[in-house]
Amino acid sequence: MNAPDRFPPWQRRPLQAALSALAEGRLGHALLLCGPESMGKREVARVLAARLLCATPGGDGLACGHCRGCDLFAAGTHPDLQPVSYAINEKTGNPRSDIIVEQMRELSEWFALTPQLGGAKVALIQPAEALNAAASNALLKTLEEPSRDRYLLLVSDRPGQLLATLRSRCQRLEFRLPPAEEAHAWLAACGHREPALGRALHAARGHPGLAAEWLEQDGLALRESVRKGLEALAAGREPPVALAQAWLADERAALRLRFAAELALDSFAAGVGAGGRDRLTTPADFPKLSDWFDAINLARAQLQVPGLRHDLVLAGLLLEWRSLMGRERGRA
Ligand SMILES: [Zn+2]
Repeated sequence: MNAPDRFPPWQRRPLQAALSALAEGRLGHALLLCGPESMGKREVARVLAARLLCATPGGDGLACGHCRGCDLFAAGTHPDLQPVSYAINEKTGNPRSDIIVEQMRELSEWFALTPQLGGAKVALIQPAEALNAAASNALLKTLEEPSRDRYLLLVSDRPGQLLATLRSRCQRLEFRLPPAEEAHAWLAACGHREPALGRALHAARGHPGLAAEWLEQDGLALRESVRKGLEALAAGREPPVALAQAWLADERAALRLRFAAELALDSFAAGVGAGGRDRLTTPADFPKLSDWFDAINLARAQLQVPGLRHDLVLAGLLLEWRSLMGRERGRA
């Protein structure tokens, strides 16, 4: 049984490990899919969830794609699949910045119910590092009483931020950056050519998924347009709402936010290097800049959650940028 070749090697390895464990009856009830971002952890988690919910798995060890469970899964309406992520704060109408204990209590109640299709029940928690302390403890209780055919898939870019006791309860599926030759070969097989391929892989520090994003989404030009957008925002030439809408106008919002985070870091480093003189930032602003950096990472995670008001998330973030950088500009 082999996980099909359509998965790149760095996804195939953890997927194969999970499928083998399942076939041999040693798959844990709680799995932690972890590793750097853009390695395909979410996709593999979905493939695993589909397999666990499939009534008649194929010879390749994956979901068959045509049973009732697979149909419902594909339609996004499988009653025994529960995705958990940032929810809306009902008081404010805004997305929350963490996963809270009430969500884990609901999950525990949901797990206790009989599966509607008579098979497994699967919960998909992402990003798992968003679980706050109370939620993590509630989840631990659920894990202490594992029941048959109940699976919990946790997905995290930053497993170090999970509660240690929670982490140690999970079977880990690690996604690791591949050797350079493997990354090169995969990008070439995707149709990318030198010298752009090598440059993108270098800029992405050996991360093939990121390099592919750069190559496919014209990363260099996009990074420059993000820099200009933030500059116009700080100078008061571009309102936050308009910039947020422009950034959401195509599929590249996540990549724009990655660049915005990098630019914030560059700005931070430049401020340190120059002792804060003649720079966008002064040492007094570093904590605010680092808050903003955290806010970008949160927004990037929230952009992946369907049903949230992404325009509000982004406009709020850009407003903070303007108040941070705009004031500095005014002083200079
Ligand atoms: Zn099926």
